[in-house]
Amino acid sequence: MTEKFLGSIEAGGTKFVCGIGNDQLEIIERVSFPTTTPEETVALVIGFFKKYNIKAIGIGSFGPIDIHKDSVTYGHITTTPKLAWQDYDFVGAMKKEFDVPIAFTTDVNAAAYGEYVAGNGAGLSSCVYYTIGTGVGAGAIQDGRFVEGFSHPEMGHMIVKRHEADQFSGSCPFHNDCLEGMAAGPAIEKRAGKKGQELAEDDPFWDIEAYYVAQAAYNTTLMLAPEVIIFGGGVMKQRHMLPKVHREFEKLVNGYVTTPPLEKYIVTPKLEDDPGTIGCLALAKKEL
Ligand code: ADP
Ligand code: ZN
Repeated sequence: MTEKFLGSIEAGGTKFVCGIGNDQLEIIERVSFPTTTPEETVALVIGFFKKYNIKAIGIGSFGPIDIHKDSVTYGHITTTPKLAWQDYDFVGAMKKEFDVPIAFTTDVNAAAYGEYVAGNGAGLSSCVYYTIGTGVGAGAIQDGRFVEGFSHPEMGHMIVKRHEADQFSGSCPFHNDCLEGMAAGPAIEKRAGKKGQELAEDDPFWDIEAYYVAQAAYNTTLMLAPEVIIFGGGVMKQRHMLPKVHREFEKLVNGYVTTPPLEKYIVTPKLEDDPGTIGCLALAKKEL
């Protein structure tokens, strides 16, 4: 009998990353396709998976998406500003080609799940995962389930206090100076006139960035008190920020709650660049 594999789709606003994995959640092949139109991009995704014998697929998608299984639009990308993808029946398109179980959640939930099963959340009962990248988003897990209600959380758009040295008006088209509007990669670029990866490690801006990231950790601590908070995404590749985030977090908490030791509580992903892929594979496996 030919071996059957797990499929992973990280559907992002700029690229789709597709992976093939085995039951040990080892990544066997991974490719990436630019996010253009559903017709073009999803055709490439389908072509890639057809090379393998797939037994289940895990999708972590940009949103907003409909995650309610009893909804008529379950599996759709809904009110995204990316017009070509509005009301796109993502799960339906995959189901048409692959008669296998499909897990569908947000990109950040999938990454949170990866760290929960195989990264810095392994062995714990709760974790929250943030990505600070092109956007800011977060997923929360409690006892193996995603924290959600009428929809999935949108923690990336929480309100933050402005840093006293920060004049930037914010770049979120909905709220201007929410967390994403102040701290995501494009906000850094607009402020500085160059990309985050081009800023020196000792640029004073990183104190401002750390202040916003620390506020996300602070709000998360007070609202969910998870066992660990993981910060991933391109901007967090600035590893020197983590001690700054710890310092700002301590100042904000001001002794009000006792958290686990900060070097274990506020961390970067153990799975480095793989939490999303491994999370999607694990979600696919869970469907079997
Ligand atoms: P996406 O969010 O699109 O999946 P990333 O998490 O890589 O992808 O985020 C991309 C954003 O992160 C860009 O705005 C980019 O400028 C910024 N970024 C990427 N790498 C770094 C880095 N090493 N330092 C600071 N910012 C970075
Ligand atoms: Zn916003």
